[in-house]
Amino acid sequence: MFDVRTIRDDFPILHTRVRGKPLVYLDNAATTHKPRSVIDRVVRYYETENANIHRGVYDLSQKATGAYEQAREKVARFLNAPEPAEVIFTRGTTEGINLVASSFGRSVLRAGDEIILSAMEHHSNIVPWQLIAAQTGALIRVIPMNDAGELMLDEYQTLLSGRTKIVSVVHISNSLGTLNDVRRITQLAHQVGAKVLIDGAQWVAHHRTDVQEIGCDFYVFSGHKLYGPTGSGALWGRRQLLDQMPPYHGGGDMIESVTFEKTAYAQLPNKFEAGTPNIAGAIGLGTAIDYIRSLGFENLEPHEAKLLEYATETLQKIRGLRIVGTAKKKGGVISFVIEDPPLSSLDLGTRLDHEGIAVRTGHHCCQPAMERMGITATARASFALYNTLEDVDALAAAVRKIVSEESGRKAKAPVVTPSRTVLRFPEPAAASPQAAADELIELFDLLGDWDDRYQQIIALGEKLPFMPPELKTEPNRVRGCMSTVHLFARRRPGTDDGLDFLADSDADIVRGLIAIVERVFAGQSAREVLTFDIESFFKRLGLDQHLSMGRRNGLASMIQRIRAYAGAFAASAAAAT
Ligand code: PMP
Repeated sequence: MFDVRTIRDDFPILHTRVRGKPLVYLDNAATTHKPRSVIDRVVRYYETENANIHRGVYDLSQKATGAYEQAREKVARFLNAPEPAEVIFTRGTTEGINLVASSFGRSVLRAGDEIILSAMEHHSNIVPWQLIAAQTGALIRVIPMNDAGELMLDEYQTLLSGRTKIVSVVHISNSLGTLNDVRRITQLAHQVGAKVLIDGAQWVAHHRTDVQEIGCDFYVFSGHKLYGPTGSGALWGRRQLLDQMPPYHGGGDMIESVTFEKTAYAQLPNKFEAGTPNIAGAIGLGTAIDYIRSLGFENLEPHEAKLLEYATETLQKIRGLRIVGTAKKKGGVISFVIEDPPLSSLDLGTRLDHEGIAVRTGHHCCQPAMERMGITATARASFALYNTLEDVDALAAAVRKIVSEESGRKAKAPVVTPSRTVLRFPEPAAASPQAAADELIELFDLLGDWDDRYQQIIALGEKLPFMPPELKTEPNRVRGCMSTVHLFARRRPGTDDGLDFLADSDADIVRGLIAIVERVFAGQSAREVLTFDIESFFKRLGLDQHLSMGRRNGLASMIQRIRAYAGAFAASAAAAT
């Protein structure tokens, strides 16, 4: 019997409270939590077995080697691989794909050869192929998808030809949830003699994997999405291919003999595992596999299917919410956007966090898939074996509350009429960037916790000077932000290097950050803007710890754009004197 209540007790972190509320963790496509058995196994390794593997003749080293190799056998059985030597431990899916792209790609691809990917790939199944394509002159072709987020296999067939050398496709999409027919994709590729890599990052934790049944040539996954440690994962490849491929990394443990003239490489799997691997990670991954096998996919699958069905039904009843990715066959991933009233995914995610609910927001490292769907970002709920129907209810209730609050707020907000002619740039907030920053520091110091500071940022954003839609052009778009950001600057009339600027975003939190930057920089001398250390100022406000990398990268892109303008204004002022 599958009793999710008992199972939850296996995961210590699930008892965490967030802002006084029980954690509702729905970001399992990003990473899953670890059961006690995995945590204990990693601790036991360090406490009683820690030694380097394959090297020592002493007892501890042999124990560590034994445990590591046993983990390889577990992975091989888990994937139904013909032999453990075909399993290469990696840091995860990303490294597995890079290994194949680099090693297989380098030995096989020639100018004019073709690599077929799909429109829904994770960046980690795009960029490594672009790197190798640039080195070899190979070309990338893309299987398109329909509006539901399903791959168009007819189009795929027209792409396949004698030039196709490799097809690399995701098993379950992490951004849309689509479950791809990887057997069929593989069969078709094999008909033209191409090899096939399947990205199993979102599959392995939820369904039984059988690489022989799929028939593919390479299969990759990450341990941390399979209830195992971070920095662990595996690549399975056919021996015949792995034997022919050159090593990916050079170093210790991957050689048979080395002289300055010539090195003979070790046999599989060592040839592809240069240096000291993540021994504890691999052993922990083995234990995660034991854990999941002890529960049985025959029990997990119906539970997770019910979660997906219930969540789809419940969420699509929420007015203004649209599910993105409506394939007939899906894994436990639901991406959605709030369109009425429009609410950026970033703001939705931040507000759900205030309710103790962890979902992912952004492009999910699938920018081409987002672009195909005509959006820049979604909020994504993704399920694991320990999620409950109550988790879904909590998410739906919180989304309903946020949407209703937002409708109220939008109804009260003054209607701003776009002005085509009058541009109003903000006046300088103080005598210098430093003086303006000091005033903000004083204000933020009065605010106790992050929630108060967050409210203050949102309030500042609400008063952001209006940016006319005419200025929201492609050249004014700042890339690298998790929301849509536009920025425009000009030299302040009547000054020699004053910086006027306007910026806007579809996300309230980003509008707030823009308002802070504007307070410090708007109307100030470009030379002072260039010398002011805004990064330390953000740290001083305590914003750096609370804003995710995505947002911080976005902020960095914004600052970079402002500095580029300031640099140009300062240079032309210097030239004039
Ligand atoms: N592919 C897919 C489908 C994924 O979901 C992810 C992780 N989000 C990756 C690749 C990359 O995995 P990792 O970061 O663990 O290497």
